[in-house]
Amino acid sequence: MVEVTEGVYFIQGQDEMIPDSHVYLIGMPSSEDLTLVDAGLVGKGNYKLQSVVKAGVKLSSIKRVIMTHTHLDHIGCLAEILKEIPSAELLIHTLEAEPIEQGDDRPVYGMQMFKQMCQTQYRLKDDAFKFTVHRKLQGGESLEIGGMSWEVLHIPGHSMGGIALYHKDKGILIPGDVIYADYAIGRFDLHGADASQLKDSLMKLAGINVNILLPGHNRIVKNVAKGYILQTANQWASSLE
Ligand SMILES: [Zn+2]
Ligand SMILES: [Zn+2]
Repeated sequence: MVEVTEGVYFIQGQDEMIPDSHVYLIGMPSSEDLTLVDAGLVGKGNYKLQSVVKAGVKLSSIKRVIMTHTHLDHIGCLAEILKEIPSAELLIHTLEAEPIEQGDDRPVYGMQMFKQMCQTQYRLKDDAFKFTVHRKLQGGESLEIGGMSWEVLHIPGHSMGGIALYHKDKGILIPGDVIYADYAIGRFDLHGADASQLKDSLMKLAGINVNILLPGHNRIVKNVAKGYILQTANQWASSLE
């Protein structure tokens, strides 16, 4: 786990055949009110939690897990993490929280063929991704957590209930898989994806001031060039009609 800036810590995903999402730990250390953003791939829970513990953070100070979205590479090890931190609350956008609560795993696997492959490879049961969601997010909330203020932005397109967390004062954006470094964006062919919504979401992000970009995969960017998100959105615009 490495410090990105005060109150924001980065645990790099350990990709295998399937990617493992990065995890961010947010909150001022002194607050003892910390939040994990995303979990990761099946089997990576221990790695993620060990990274936290090795940095001297008590697991009991982690009060909640916020999911940017519920694809397998982000929610895969959520059960492993919640087993170790049973008191942590779970926050997901309502459009993905509802299927997750009902045990509808289409938002997790994205496509039937992938489901069969993963269930075999990881020996997953049909109810592996059924969770109680403690707070259903809508977008537009301001979360006062860990001595910091994070806005919730609903940015559908890569998935139905995709959200970003945004720290306005520091210009920190955690957008899940909607936008990455190097002018890359998330795929838009899975269950619940929508190209034109993705375009709108990119334009929404282009309208905010972002200095630090902390995506779900690949490298993080600590010094985002002015206009980067707009340029990325424009580059992809014709593919997102
Ligand atoms: Zn995704
Ligand atoms: Zn991902």
